Amino acid sequence: MAARQRRPVALTDSWCTGEARTLTGVGTPGVSLKASQFTESVIREMTRRCVELHGADAVNFAQGFPDFDAPQELLEAAAHAMRDGHNQYGTTWGAPELREAIADSYSFHFDRVLDPAREITVTCGSTEAMIAAMLGLVDPGDEVIVLSPFYENYGPDCILTGAAPHYVTLHEPDFHIDLQELERAFKPRTRAIIVNTPNNPTGKVYSMEELHLIAELCRRYDAIAVTDEIYEHLVYEGEHVRIGSLPGMYERSVTISGISKTYSLTGWRVGWLIAPPHLTEGIRKVHDFLTVGAAHPLQLAAAEALRLPDAYYDRLLADYRERRDLLVGGLRQLGFACEMPAGAYYVMADIAAFEFPDDYTFAQHLIERFAVATVPGSSFYHLPELGRHKIRFSYPKKIATIERGLERLAPLRQRVTAGA
Ligand code: PLP
Repeated sequence: MAARQRRPVALTDSWCTGEARTLTGVGTPGVSLKASQFTESVIREMTRRCVELHGADAVNFAQGFPDFDAPQELLEAAAHAMRDGHNQYGTTWGAPELREAIADSYSFHFDRVLDPAREITVTCGSTEAMIAAMLGLVDPGDEVIVLSPFYENYGPDCILTGAAPHYVTLHEPDFHIDLQELERAFKPRTRAIIVNTPNNPTGKVYSMEELHLIAELCRRYDAIAVTDEIYEHLVYEGEHVRIGSLPGMYERSVTISGISKTYSLTGWRVGWLIAPPHLTEGIRKVHDFLTVGAAHPLQLAAAEALRLPDAYYDRLLADYRERRDLLVGGLRQLGFACEMPAGAYYVMADIAAFEFPDDYTFAQHLIERFAVATVPGSSFYHLPELGRHKIRFSYPKKIATIERGLERLAPLRQRVTAGA
């Protein structure tokens, strides 16, 4: 067979990270120009390095998955669905049982009756939901606003879509939006803004004022809000506000969530999108050809998850609050400076007190010396220098794991004292 012919292509900045540049040629043989523009996930890389060096002894504060089990009844519901013969392709848009359960539990939040047939799509995790939304709604060259620091997937999502990301910085210490900066970022070419509240990596929960401004700008510029709300049940103070529930926003928003975080089932890969029919149509076509559908029996068990009583969510939040308070209190005692996260299960910790050259060296030191994995802060920023003095801890961990991690890091305290 003849070798695949590659014509030289010209990529403009719309394919890259925002800096004006033109690439010609074919890059690394076998690797597309798109794929050559991003690297392995730093989060998963840190986990892998720590496990390679320390095996089961590693304390993994890097990757956001629980080290405790999901509710037993959900595991049983999945086993039951398999034994009952739900082992073939399900409906591409999602098992009707799950779409109905999603409609039942979200209609109240949007103050409308959601139609499972036309407004809800089940995907392989919210990860697939995001890329399917981007590919289904955004054209190459369109601008997409990304608030930085951001969950690392959004960069590759933009590259794969061909969108030009326009980054707007969230300002420390509380990671707030400068409202004028955001206003300046919106342009006639702006097609969408990605909003992640509660936020990874900062633990920020967007304020009403910020969400209303985003909504107002979306309406003014006819842009779509793609909102990643995977941590919707982890808001420690106040209530989670869905941008799609704000006036005039349902028609121009895509709300993404899933079971990974709320039910401690990150490995099941079940997520969903809620969007009006005119947006759902395009997203569904992409979803169909990307994955055909999420695991059928696990979708049926996910439907059971959505019917858990309110007490489940109260307990979940109380447990996470305890983990948060333990970790943040412990980190502060060790000499890290950190804000108390208002939501999600991450904390960005400032490492200036330890006088390391940068975040990577520091994270590597924690792996080698203490068998503790974290994530270098720079990997969450469009301008890496903004995160050079930070590392991210995630805390979906047993209390005993958090205590073990903090004990291991105790020698850091002497380092601060000695340096002081
Ligand atoms: N979105 C955010 C903000 C996340 O932090 C994560 C996982 O860490 C995901 C999406 C991935 O979710 P899922 O497991 O549903 O693909």
